[in-house]
Amino acid sequence: MLSFDTLLLVQVCTTVLTTALLVASACYRDSPPEMRWWATGNLVISVGLSMTNLGGIPFLVYALLGYSLIALGIALVLRGVRVHCGDTLALSHVLLITLISLLVSAYFSLIEPSVKARVAFSGLYFGVLNWICGYSAGRYSNERGVPIAVAGFGLLGTALVVRGVHLLMQEGPVDLSSSTVLGITMLTIPLAQVCTTVGLILMVMWRYAERLRHLSSIDALTGALNRAGLEDQGGRLALRLQRARRDLAVLMIDVDHFKQINDSFGHAAGDEVLRCLTRLLRQELRPMDVLARIGGEEFVLVLDGVDPAAALRLAERLRARIADESVPCDGAAVAYTVSIGVVASVTAGYDLPTLMAAGDRAMYDAKRSGRNQVCAA
Ligand code: GH3
Ligand code: MG
Ligand code: MG
Repeated sequence: MLSFDTLLLVQVCTTVLTTALLVASACYRDSPPEMRWWATGNLVISVGLSMTNLGGIPFLVYALLGYSLIALGIALVLRGVRVHCGDTLALSHVLLITLISLLVSAYFSLIEPSVKARVAFSGLYFGVLNWICGYSAGRYSNERGVPIAVAGFGLLGTALVVRGVHLLMQEGPVDLSSSTVLGITMLTIPLAQVCTTVGLILMVMWRYAERLRHLSSIDALTGALNRAGLEDQGGRLALRLQRARRDLAVLMIDVDHFKQINDSFGHAAGDEVLRCLTRLLRQELRPMDVLARIGGEEFVLVLDGVDPAAALRLAERLRARIADESVPCDGAAVAYTVSIGVVASVTAGYDLPTLMAAGDRAMYDAKRSGRNQVCAA
């Protein structure tokens, strides 16, 4: 079996290494606030842990300050977890968590001196605080990394609580270095710390990846999907409908004489027209339909379970609504119309580029017929 000092060294080294990892992650310019709370919390825990475990520090300093710093560090980690989940932990609560530890440590150091009671209390208290961290993170269980962080916090909390309960059950003074249960908890704690750190870092990386994926598929001006988003989501919808043998329809929409709108009212007015058109199209769509802006003033709708007749009716309704509405811009009312090409899977199959090419031809037929028209492929 490893000696108490070796286990202690492993624990301190793991704390320092995991803290260094979190601090390095928090130093990135774009690192999220929660990463900074986790790094700060772990730094504070490292200092507290070093004080309580390494010799040469006056008794009252490590007994009072050491445990309070560990409590403060865990509270900051909890604040980071809450921030990651879109919530927060008030600084007054952080201070309260620290103060409880300080008062209890002071009680068992000055009024009713007992090493066993002090260590047992801190084990139970820090254990429960880690469980709360795990519980708070677990509410976002759909994110990558969360199960690892929850397992880490859970394991850490359990090891600390077991240590506290074990100490409380001991008769008389305890020798911390000769207990097997304490030895096992000291082996478990570094493992749990690694788990927690990896989990927290993965949680943030997953958020970054999701945000990047979202940004790369969204058109910044209108919020509709861009071409890449259309290829992804539209392609998946087409495949699903083909497998389910359900109808699919595609509408290609192009604003008429858009260049003239820009020339007459300015580019900002043109942008506002595009935003209003997107809002109007969204109002007519169901959640499973796909809306994308694939060019300056060109939009695509991929409609789930819509037959050719229903697609033509929808296109005609859209065309009429757009022709009726005007966009208020800088005191002027900008009226505009669209030309729409309609194509359905019954005639053109389920391959999205083929459908779009056929829809485009129908849309140019509508342009040639005088614009503000709907044409079927
Ligand atoms: P048609 O009826 O034949 O479609 O004519 P049009 O003027 O709508 O078509 P054209 O392709 O000649 O012009 C499209 C214009 O769209 C030209 C370009 O300056 C403008 N445009 C492209 N992207 C944007 C944008 O993001 N904002 C604004 N305001 N204008 C844009
Ligand atoms: Mg146009
Ligand atoms: Mg165009």
